[in-house]
Amino acid sequence: DNNIQVYDDYTDDGVSGATFDRPDFNRMIKDIENKKINLIIVKDLSRFGRLSSKISYYLEEFFIEKGVRFIAVTDDIDTGAIETSEDMVQFKAFFNEWFLRDTSRKVRNGKKTRAREGKVMTTYPTYGYKKDPLDNNHYVIDPDIAPIVRRIFMLARNGKTPTEIGKILTDEKTLVPSEIVGNGHTRKDGIKRGWNRNTVKRILQNVTYLGWVSNGNTKKINYKSKKTMIMPKEDRIIKKGMHTPIIDEETFNIVQDMIKSRTSTRVKSYDWLLKGLVCCKECGKKLSLVPQKHPNKTTFYLRCNTYATNTHLGLCTPHSNNLEKVTDFVIEQIKKRCREFLDEEKYTKIANTNKFIYIY
Ligand SMILES: [Zn+2]
Repeated sequence: DNNIQVYDDYTDDGVSGATFDRPDFNRMIKDIENKKINLIIVKDLSRFGRLSSKISYYLEEFFIEKGVRFIAVTDDIDTGAIETSEDMVQFKAFFNEWFLRDTSRKVRNGKKTRAREGKVMTTYPTYGYKKDPLDNNHYVIDPDIAPIVRRIFMLARNGKTPTEIGKILTDEKTLVPSEIVGNGHTRKDGIKRGWNRNTVKRILQNVTYLGWVSNGNTKKINYKSKKTMIMPKEDRIIKKGMHTPIIDEETFNIVQDMIKSRTSTRVKSYDWLLKGLVCCKECGKKLSLVPQKHPNKTTFYLRCNTYATNTHLGLCTPHSNNLEKVTDFVIEQIKKRCREFLDEEKYTKIANTNKFIYIY
């Protein structure tokens, strides 16, 4: 329904954009000279050419002279932008999206191939390893850090819990993984990552230390989103024997069993009305539930997650609150809000007078 008519496709596959002397490019120029076309659409400027002096000649002189409108979709260049029609806006939006999806599919396919080959695909190396200077997709042992990893596994094997190990490492001022491998960027909540039970647990459960490469641990939700989801273990692509192990399989398996037996008895999850909806005012982290057992009944309290996982780092305070009181307060607030929008008198009147509804 737009009045664009496609005259021809001009493609110069395999010819570098560094030169403008390309068969289809020349054919296109000829068609312009012969007044066959008045609109050129390219994905991006690099498809058109890479020589900036030539580009400015075409964009600023030649096309204007010939009355040709030029659009480079992803670069947002449109030499006829002043009288941009509604049609054109939609057309461009469609192309933009299509190119984006196409590119993302190509990137994904390339990644899948590399994942199957057992190539290391993370930006930052795993704590204890370095990127091989000769091959960016291969790990070599970091001789300074590997002993720390071995020690963490030994402590765990000897019965220390991840929380206890975290405390030992904090007391010894051992550098945390983010400080070693270089991804020490500030997190959204502005809290510096310290040694806590999760940091330790992630190390203890990481099969990289066995010399394995595990790819596909996370997956992007779609090409538009930066969000990722964690993939189940059976969907990950694991290749063994890809680099020198730091931990032997026997130790690793013993530690896995110990973690498993501990988690199954300790963690109990509860369902409550405001689950996942209340956050700590100070640090923004979700609040979690802590049961407090009394002889006859259990009272539940809310507690800040930052405090819970990093107690010894003193990053936040407990923010302890009685769950029942908080829930009642929230419900009362919601009711109050609803009442503000509801003219009770008016609706009561309607309800009382209109006893019958006639349908014609
Ligand atoms: Zn907090």
